[in-house]
Amino acid sequence: MQTFNPPVRTLMGPGPSDVYPRVLEALSRPTIGHLDPAFIRMMDELKELLQYAFQTRNAMTMPVSAPGSDGMETCFVNLVEPGDKVIVCQNGVFGGRMKENVERCGGIAVMVEDSWGDAIDINKLEDALKAHDDARIVAMVHAETSTGAQSDVATLVKLAHQHDCLTIVDTVTSLGGTPVKVDEWGIDAIYSGSQKCLSCTPGIAPVSFNERALEKIRDRQTKVQSWFMDLNLVMGYWGEGAKRAYHHTAPINALYALHEALLILNEEGLEEAWARHRKNHLALRAGLEAMGLSFIVKEPDRLPQLNAVTIPAGVDDASVRSRLLNEYNLEIGAGLGALAGKVWRIGLMGHASRAENILLCVGALESVLGDMGAEINTGVALPAMQKALA
Ligand SMILES: *Cc1c(COP(=O)(O)O)cnc(C)c1O
Repeated sequence: MQTFNPPVRTLMGPGPSDVYPRVLEALSRPTIGHLDPAFIRMMDELKELLQYAFQTRNAMTMPVSAPGSDGMETCFVNLVEPGDKVIVCQNGVFGGRMKENVERCGGIAVMVEDSWGDAIDINKLEDALKAHDDARIVAMVHAETSTGAQSDVATLVKLAHQHDCLTIVDTVTSLGGTPVKVDEWGIDAIYSGSQKCLSCTPGIAPVSFNERALEKIRDRQTKVQSWFMDLNLVMGYWGEGAKRAYHHTAPINALYALHEALLILNEEGLEEAWARHRKNHLALRAGLEAMGLSFIVKEPDRLPQLNAVTIPAGVDDASVRSRLLNEYNLEIGAGLGALAGKVWRIGLMGHASRAENILLCVGALESVLGDMGAEINTGVALPAMQKALA
């Protein structure tokens, strides 16, 4: 065995996305203690940078030492008590995981289902809220990475509040790519991930809770079932002002990396990052549509950072993806769940959302598909993209 040297890839799938070189450098800095005063100063900055990314003043804003799925679990284990009724809006894979979380916490999940590729239907949620006036929480995914659909979280949260429900919102794929406004939208508990539009390495989950959510946690009749994720205990380490105490050994270098990724977002500016994601999405779309490929999500609900396109008839999904990987060092995503084998998911997340990546991806797809005899239009995609990028 020898030192592991990974190949250099371009990551245009559903995550992880291309990591910023500055973030990789940050990872290699000297490891210090998790209670070192210098580290604690960095933790304070990290919280402030996360508050900016989430657009919130919530004091309870911090990174959980685990991937996005654990951010999800942190929200559910703290907020859901046995017997609590939770309305879960599902329009793809991740809503299904929310149901699992509710049930494992002893809660009762009421599912509101939409077709994969559609945004969450506000009227269906309203009907469910009327039919279940004992519901305590509404959970939803803002950006469904399995389909590329974005839902109107601002309106859904408002509706949930009119029925006295707290809200849990998944923004793993939206944070840094499209607007997420925790305070303005009134989101009660939110989680995200480090490896999508923040372009950090995987393994960290930013979360934030407002006062209403913390009140529900304080009023719990039962202990949080998870020792590791119990916010009352975690806050002994991540909390404000008071003396910090050991809870678990923080992933020191991974947090340097997140600090650097958030600093880059701060330097670019949220509005500018959102605009860049949108512009590059429009260019990718111009190229793919010129080639003859079509999007599965309706125009107003499309995520700029996750583009799900139909695989042309007669084309073998896996061979195309493996040729892109082997010949172009390019990773795009396969379909997930109900969409497996039917779509490709092309991610334009964070640092991966760049003009050269779009040109590489569409050029490589055109070449591989043409070679396989797929029915596509050739010679028109690149000019269409260049026009959109100009
Ligand atoms: C990726 C993703 C997750 C899970 O994040 P991991 O870091 O893979 O655990 C959850 N929700 C959504 C919408 C995602 O895209």
